[in-house]
Amino acid sequence: MTRPLLTIDLDAIAANWAALDRLSAGAVETGAVVKADAYGLGVAAVSRALRAVGASRFFVAVASEAVAVRAAVGPGPEIFVFAGYTPGDGELLRQTEFRPMLNSPQQVSAFAAEHPDLPCGLQLDTGMNRLGLEPEDLGALDLGSLDLRLVMSHLACADDPSHPQNAAQRGAFQAMTGGFAPELLSLAATGGVLLGPDYHFAVTRPGIGLYGGQPFADARPVVRLSVPVLQVRDVAVGESVGYGAAWVAARPSRIATLAVGYADGLLRALSGAVFHAEGVACPVVGRVSMDLITVDVTDLPFEPDTLDVLGPDQGIDALAAAAGTIGYEVLTALGSRYERVYKGG
Ligand SMILES: *Cc1c(COP(=O)(O)O)cnc(C)c1O
Repeated sequence: MTRPLLTIDLDAIAANWAALDRLSAGAVETGAVVKADAYGLGVAAVSRALRAVGASRFFVAVASEAVAVRAAVGPGPEIFVFAGYTPGDGELLRQTEFRPMLNSPQQVSAFAAEHPDLPCGLQLDTGMNRLGLEPEDLGALDLGSLDLRLVMSHLACADDPSHPQNAAQRGAFQAMTGGFAPELLSLAATGGVLLGPDYHFAVTRPGIGLYGGQPFADARPVVRLSVPVLQVRDVAVGESVGYGAAWVAARPSRIATLAVGYADGLLRALSGAVFHAEGVACPVVGRVSMDLITVDVTDLPFEPDTLDVLGPDQGIDALAAAAGTIGYEVLTALGSRYERVYKGG
């Protein structure tokens, strides 16, 4: 191996979707959130694999992301856009037939005026205060002419089952949606699926759980990132490694240099992380630079050809913890410089 290799297990993504689907009743439809290039893993391959296992409602963040999903899944499956509708999306709307999740009175009136015959969804604010109609908006708007396909809200604290805001938002959602058909309702992302049936309503919208991340503790891991060692050098006691001379050898050391860095999404905050060689943890030493990372391999009984940044010894959440962030950010930061190989699907 001469280049860093990002291996993405499509069968694991499909299995995670099926496992999340089994957590809700048969009548509940499990959707699939594939925004941000399927959390950085490649929206075309991921959407096709999810379609093949049974997903028929896909969710993206912005209208332009619907193009690749439509190309991957073909006509039929519904594609919902969380950002809703902005004038100017008309061409994308015709091309992809996405469903905007209208989230303000302005969006509702603009969409109703420009596309009176096209289906859409509504997004309600139940306490997160990012997007969505407020109860007083709902009362003031005439929604009778809209061809509604989904009415949703989003939970702010679903990764913490003990958080009182979960039940509060659920109650607010029920209060706001009493006038809509039950089969339109959607509240749960991955965390909400795990909170149990009270949170499932008609359609669930898992994202991170599909990709092997917390809070779905039973997820199958999806990614492996293996990076070739560019060179190994001897560093004497008292010599420093990397920018700022931030690490100084306290013993005669063997330092492996990898041709990856923060420009590849391996955040500078990973300066205290470990990578693995055949199961042995090797500490990152010195600062992560833009294109290079240095790792202490002194304790390895062999000369490593590659080090695993992500893999069986360290999942996305463990790596995220080393950088003080979350698995979501580790995945979406990975970027486009890696050679990608898809398994299964
Ligand atoms: C990103 C997102 C999801 C998926 O959330 P996960 O925590 O990744 O499962 C669902 N709904 C909305 C509105 C989102 O923005």
